[in-house]
Parts: sequence; C-alpha cells; structure tokens
Amino acid sequence: MSHQTLKLAKEAAAGHEEQLLIGTAGMNRGQRAAMEVAESARDQGDGKGGFAAQLCLGRFDPAMLTPFPKQSDSDRRIGDEMVRAVSVFLTDHLDPDEVDETRTIPQEVIEGLKRLGVFRMKVPQEYGGLGFSQVNYNRVIMAIASYCGSTAVLVSAHQSIGVPQPLKMFGTEAQKSKYLRRIAGGELSAFALTEAEVGSDPARMTTTAKLSDDGAHYILNGVKLWTTNGPIAQLIVVMAQTAAKVSRGRACPQITAFIVEADSPGVEVTHRCDFMGLRGIQNGLIRFDNVKVPAENVIWGEGLGLKLALKTLNTGRLTLPAACTGIGKQCLSIVRQWGNDRVQWGLPIGRHEAGSQKIAFIACTTFAMEAVTWLTSHWVDQGLDIRIEAAMAKLFCTEATWEIVDQTMQLRGGRGYERAASLRARGEAAYPVERMMRDCRINTIIEGTSEIMRLYLAREALDPHLKLAADLLRDGIPLKRKLMATGRLVRFYVRWYPAQLFGSVWPKRYRSMGRLRSHYRYIDRASHKLAAAMFGAMARHRNKLERRQVLLGHLMDVGTELFAMAATCAYARSLASQEHSQGDPLQLADLFCLQARGRIEQHFRAIRWGNQRSANALAAQVLSGDFQWMEQGVISPQPPDPSLKFVAPSAQYEHDGLNTFAERS
Ligand SMILES: Cc1cc2nc3c(=O)[nH]c(=O)nc-3n(C[C@H](O)[C@H](O)[C@H](O)COP(=O)(O)OP(=O)(O)OC[C@H]3O[C@@H](n4cnc5c(N)ncnc54)[C@H](O)[C@@H]3O)c2cc1C
Repeated sequence: MSHQTLKLAKEAAAGHEEQLLIGTAGMNRGQRAAMEVAESARDQGDGKGGFAAQLCLGRFDPAMLTPFPKQSDSDRRIGDEMVRAVSVFLTDHLDPDEVDETRTIPQEVIEGLKRLGVFRMKVPQEYGGLGFSQVNYNRVIMAIASYCGSTAVLVSAHQSIGVPQPLKMFGTEAQKSKYLRRIAGGELSAFALTEAEVGSDPARMTTTAKLSDDGAHYILNGVKLWTTNGPIAQLIVVMAQTAAKVSRGRACPQITAFIVEADSPGVEVTHRCDFMGLRGIQNGLIRFDNVKVPAENVIWGEGLGLKLALKTLNTGRLTLPAACTGIGKQCLSIVRQWGNDRVQWGLPIGRHEAGSQKIAFIACTTFAMEAVTWLTSHWVDQGLDIRIEAAMAKLFCTEATWEIVDQTMQLRGGRGYERAASLRARGEAAYPVERMMRDCRINTIIEGTSEIMRLYLAREALDPHLKLAADLLRDGIPLKRKLMATGRLVRFYVRWYPAQLFGSVWPKRYRSMGRLRSHYRYIDRASHKLAAAMFGAMARHRNKLERRQVLLGHLMDVGTELFAMAATCAYARSLASQEHSQGDPLQLADLFCLQARGRIEQHFRAIRWGNQRSANALAAQVLSGDFQWMEQGVISPQPPDPSLKFVAPSAQYEHDGLNTFAERS
C-alpha cells in the first residue's frame, strides 16, 4: 500500500470511529441508518476547507482566485491537439442524431476514439495511459458533450467514475499495474452502485459479498440497476455489502468496492435500459449470481466502498460541469444564428426584447459555467480540497444548463420542438435542440441529485459549527460536557457573530477590482449575511435543522451563486487582461452577477418568508389521499390492475370511469 493510500485508510478508519455529530433522536430506523452510513462515508478533506467553505463562514478571500489559474503552454498544447483530433474524428464519423435514432454508437467510432487515446486520458502514463490533467480531460469532455451527449457519457462513465479514477486514487500497485494497463489497452469500464432500492440511499443496499472460508475470494450476489457501460464493459467497479462491523453493540453495515471481471461466470446483463435521452448509451440491469471475486480485487479496504465512491465523485462529478459548458456553448451558437435569421414582426427575434433577454442570459450564464468549470478543474490539478466546490459546480452547472436549453427551445419556437431529422428532411437547419433537451435532463439527477447535493453542501458548510456544537446536539451527553461546550460556543460566537452582522452592512471597498468592484462588495456582504443566516438557522432549529431541507436548500443556493459570482469575476478579470478583438468578458461577468444577485435576494426573502409549513401540510394531505378528487377526469397511463379499485372521495365528484383514483383493496 502506498503512503498516500495508507494515510487515507487511517483517516477513513478514524472517521468510522467518529460519533454522529447530528442528533438522530426522533428518526425512524431507515432515516437513522441512512444518516449513519452517510456520516461514516464522509470525506473530511484536509480539514481546512477550501474557498467555498470559507465563503459560507463569512470569509470571502478573492486572493484565493487571483491570479485565475492558467494551463501551462505545454499542457495547453496537449489539450488543443486532442480536442482538435476528437472534433475532426467525430464530425467525420459520427452522426449524433443517428445515434439517438438507432440507440447505437457505432463500434468503429468507439474503436476510433480508442485509437485516439480518448479512453485512456485519465490513466497515468506509467501504466500506458495519457495521464491528462483534469483541465485537458474536461476540455475533451466539453467538446464531445457539445456534439453528442451519448458519446460523452460513454467516455465519462468509463473514466470519471469507472475503474481508472478509483484505482488511481486507492488501488494497490498490483491492481494498478494489472487493470490500468488493461484499460490503457482498450478495455472499457463501468461503475455499479445503484439498485432498485438504492438511489440516493446506499444504506438500503442488498447486493452482498461474502468472504469464502479460506479468505481467497468473495461471493457476490445481487442486482445492479442503470449501470452505464454495463452491457459493454470488461471491468466493473461494484459496490456490495460485506460482513457488518459491530460497534458499541450494534451491527453497522459495511459497503465495499470490488473490481469485477464482466465475463466472470454468474455475471449477466438482463436488460438494456431505454431512456428519454442519451439513447445511445449502453446502460443495463446487471445480475450477479454467486460470482467469485478474488479477495485481492477489493479496492482500498473492506467497508471503505462508500467513502471511495464519494472521494471518486469529488473529481468525477466535475465532468458534468464541463459537459454542461459544452451544451451551453452550443446553445449560444444556435441562439446567435437563429436570433439573427428569424424575422418576425419586422425584426430578427433576437432584437425583440424578450429574445434578447434570453440570448444575454445564455451568454453570461455559459460564461459563468465555464469559469466554475475551469477553476475547479485547475484546483483538482493543484491537489486542493474541492469537495464543496465540486458539488457546487455540479449543482450550479446542471441546473443552469436545463434553464439554458429550455430558453434555447423557446427561442427556436416550434422548430425547437421538432426533431433534427425532420428539420433536415424539410430542408431546414437541423439544430438538435430537442435532442439536447432530452439528453441533458438527466444531469440534475445522476452523480447526486440536486436535492442531495444541497443536503451534502449543507452538511459540509455547517461542519465547523456542528463540530463546535457537537456535544450540545448529540443525544445522551452528560450535563457537565454540555456546559463546557456552551462555554466554548459562547467564546467563539461572541466575536464571530457580530463580525458577520458588521460585515453584512459594511463590506470592504474592493476599489482595486475596477468595474466589478460592486459585485465583489456584494459577495463580501452576502457571504457575511449567509454565515449569519446559517448560524441563525442552526440556533433556531438545532438538531432538527437537518430536516429543514428547503431552508438548507436556499442557504446552499446562495452559497453556490456566490461561488459562481466569485469565479466568474476572477475569470473575467483574467481574460480582460488579454487581447480580445471583440466582446468584453467583464460585460459577461457584470450581467451574470446582476442576475445572480437577483436570485440570491429571492433566496434570502424565501429564507425569511418561506411558506414551507403550509406546503408541508398540503403535501402530507396529498400523500394521504385527501386530494385524490383532484385526479378525477384523466386517463391513467397504467394498465388496469385488478388489485386496485377506484374510489370516489366525495359525492360531489362522481367516479366517471376515467379517473386514476386508486386504492389497494
Ligand atoms: C441514464 C442514467 C445513467 C445512470 N448511470 C449510473 C451508473 O453508471 N452507475 C450507477 O450506480 N448509477 C447510475 N444511475 C443511477 C443514478 O445515479 C440515480 O438515478 C441517482 O442516484 C438517483 O437515484 P434514484 O433515481 O433512485 O432516485 P431516488 O434516490 O429515489 O430519488 C428520487 C427523488 O427523491 C429525492 N430524494 C431522495 N432522497 C432524498 C432525501 N433524503 N431528501 C430529499 N430528497 C430526496 C431525489 O433528489 C429525487 O428527486 C444512472 C441513472 C440514469 C437514469
């Protein structure tokens, strides 16, 4: 085991011993199990927290973004060459609309990409790979995603979450030498965590791996759902439950990561899933039936599987921001052309105010996505702790891209809704907006849904507070310790809290930031306000804060927007110092910040005046069936189920035979 791996293993073991910082009294078994699994898998990074963690504590430090990181000339040349080669190859050999239509990425295209080295970009050079920097890898992903979503996902499922990334981070020398070389030689990989009952909640995992009596191998049993590349991969990283560990008299579930050979006896792809978009990906349901996995195929160690998945995803999920930036740029190109070409009511539609607002939003938001993508990618290359920034980048870029594609479709009008092949057949420009919309919708769901990202961010952003208040929040702590914790808290917050209040009214001046100084002042002020609001929420809701998901969501959306603003300003200032024949980057940053500030103010208003209680009460009634009468008059898409009977909730709403009211008899 390398020194780094050993250090990580010790860290992980320490994390396992750590008690929960969050009170779990009042939770049901499932909630408690999910919380325990999530907490034990937490990656605590270097303990200092990066730029965004500081921002959430009211410490905005623009010096951390200055100078904005840049590729070295030699690294840029490597990226330029690959992006050019891949772009030429794909435009010559791949029709993305045909991929969408036929649900197939032609084998010769996959082989061609292999020859170019696309599937070994992330494999270190000593194992036969290209050893790309994260920036270059993401540049290639951005280019591919702008052209064909399915192909981008094929490449990224293999490298961002598939075998190369976890092995690079946690593999033994023997594992790296064996499997990374095979990957470099052209084998494909996949990552299998999800099951029918395991989406966002790995505590419900049912796939098991039992160690044989002689300790030589594990026997794997279970079914994995939605494994991208599963049907074509030679190697799969599989997460499974191994023997539970007993801690304080209770059995704690252990999730372990294995490298599994896809052609092992007992591995079977039982179904290829078909989706709304990304129709060319090979994504399957995989059954593992008494599959023998050699004990040396455990990655990192027993019980460290989830921690591995989270650590892998810290960098792995940066692929999505890059892909989203590619989509944003494509949309920008489409609305620029269509906004000029399409004339209605005597003007090109891009010149009508409603159209120009959309175009400006797409331009400045794409610029912000680019800023966030390159900043976080460079930080990975510099080895910084980017847990929070990567999650913010994923959340911000995937949500923004959906909005961008939606606005692009609106500007294209009916043509936006028409499939590219149909447009082409009638002799019109075949902008694939409809396909792009279908392809990109999944991005707010995979690799951590937006809701889970907000909860994850909240947990990380609140960590310094939780650590200070741990003894007050935990159940069963003796009074003496609670009093000592109170003393510690008072000493810290008596200085910290007034500083936040003061800073939220009198921020620094930022005169040296030129045209963008008012935005820097705003970020400074709002970061203090955010820190104070987080503290206020904690003081008010204490160990029930974890359940105030909407409040936490607004807080984290503020943090995310502030991070995006800071990245965008820093990026714009770095570009503004270079030669630009046309188009001032500061103008893009200025508009993005103005729009982000509007959204942030809305979040702060919602934090103060939110109507969650009414919404929660109404939702509870909907779930218990009180409003089933509202569902009357529609035709159910489900085939009739004889075990279901129709129920009319009141005489006022007579059952008409077409409603969907159904209740188990
Ligand atoms: C095209 C595609 C490719 C995929 N590729 C892979 C792959 O290669 N490998 C793999 O392992 N998986 C893969 N997945 C699975 C994907 O990662 C999951 O869909 C994702 O993790 C969400 O799980 P779920 O769909 O079961 O949703 P659920 O977890 O059931 O969530 C449903 C909804 O409930 C919300 N929710 C869940 N828990 C909470 C909570 N505690 N608080 C508030 N809201 C909550 C979610 O945000 C979401 O809105 C893929 C899925 C698709 C569709």
